[in-house]
Amino acid sequence: MSRFNSLESLKALCTRFASTISFLDEATELEGYLIRIRRRIHANPELAYHEQETAALVAGELKRAGIRVETRVGGTGVVGVLEGAAPGHTVALRADMDALPLQELSGEEFASKSKGVMHACGHDSHVAMLLGAARILASHRDDLKGAVKFLFQPAEEAAEKGGGAKPMIVAGVMERPKVDYVFGLHVFSNFPSRTFALRPGPLMAASGTFKIRVLGRGGHGSAPHQTVDPVFVAAQLITALQAIRSRMVDPVEPSVVSVCSVHSGTRNNIIPDDAMLEGTMRTVDDFTKRRVASLIRQISYSVCRTFGARCEVEIEDAYPVTVNNPGVEAEVFSLLSTIPGTKTVEVPPLLVAEDFSFFLRKAPGTYYFLGTRDESKGCVSPNHSSRFKVDEDVMKYGADSLALLAFEFSGRGVR
Ligand SMILES: [Zn+2]
Ligand SMILES: [Zn+2]
Repeated sequence: MSRFNSLESLKALCTRFASTISFLDEATELEGYLIRIRRRIHANPELAYHEQETAALVAGELKRAGIRVETRVGGTGVVGVLEGAAPGHTVALRADMDALPLQELSGEEFASKSKGVMHACGHDSHVAMLLGAARILASHRDDLKGAVKFLFQPAEEAAEKGGGAKPMIVAGVMERPKVDYVFGLHVFSNFPSRTFALRPGPLMAASGTFKIRVLGRGGHGSAPHQTVDPVFVAAQLITALQAIRSRMVDPVEPSVVSVCSVHSGTRNNIIPDDAMLEGTMRTVDDFTKRRVASLIRQISYSVCRTFGARCEVEIEDAYPVTVNNPGVEAEVFSLLSTIPGTKTVEVPPLLVAEDFSFFLRKAPGTYYFLGTRDESKGCVSPNHSSRFKVDEDVMKYGADSLALLAFEFSGRGVR
């Protein structure tokens, strides 16, 4: 979808950014560094709240670039602060550092050395790209106005435990100096390599987690009539919950209810006493969020009661909707569009969720995706797959984009 319906608006844009600086040559020179750092982190992934080695690597690299560093911020978080030569705005750039509990099957030569832990969401590349941007900006310190804060955040994937953005905010990263703009980037297999994808307003969903314990009454597998079989009831419930999306909320309102974990029983001929279901819900507005949550409760209680079981339902809010500031997003869209060799597109909201949303509640900013799907390189598996592969050729564009946004927004309106 094109943003520019008239030649006038395109001309106005060209005039506006006629003086836009490009860091792509410098990012290209740093390509070997970006790949080296990314592979090192990829081979040594660390789970949420345990990113000690990654944080140590980040702190070391920032110090080497002459950037002031604070460690153990909100847990394992690391913050770098680069002050420019003249007054201006403070821009925060954020990368997440955590890996996922998943056995890697990518076949990469630098695959994870930790059993059952893998960088399957590309956060390794986020760290590398942000370190690249930090090095670029540090080498332009004399031309930089204001300040740039580099936020290396733990535990983005740990929504059920509150994530890692909130503890960093509580630790004061959006203050002293106060952050005026905040930006974040995520690699995404949904989009072709070298494509920046974003939108104004809601970009990603609010997420919530739910746990449903079905309480039956166990017995012998040969005599189900003497029991209340929680496995059977859970199966009915999993199916019934899908009526929320298909039959009970407005079909044009984005929403998802997914039961992702089912646990019950110990062996083939014992009907157990209970069954545990866990899942996630996604919505992009508050009304639908409340409606979906209340329907999960209603359906759980009704289905269980119908078959003589009881249930306990716990629903918790995880991350809020990620909302890009429309004015800032428009400028980001224009700036990204100036990066040679890339394409910038507007996309509909996605039902993934991000704790970057908490940063966007503290300062205007924009979150955007960088596509990393390239069939010719075998980069086809989705994020969170054990076969997920980042197209490393896109990292220089990501590093360039972060440096560009920080440089332009820190000097925005400042003479
Ligand atoms: Zn993820
Ligand atoms: Zn992620």
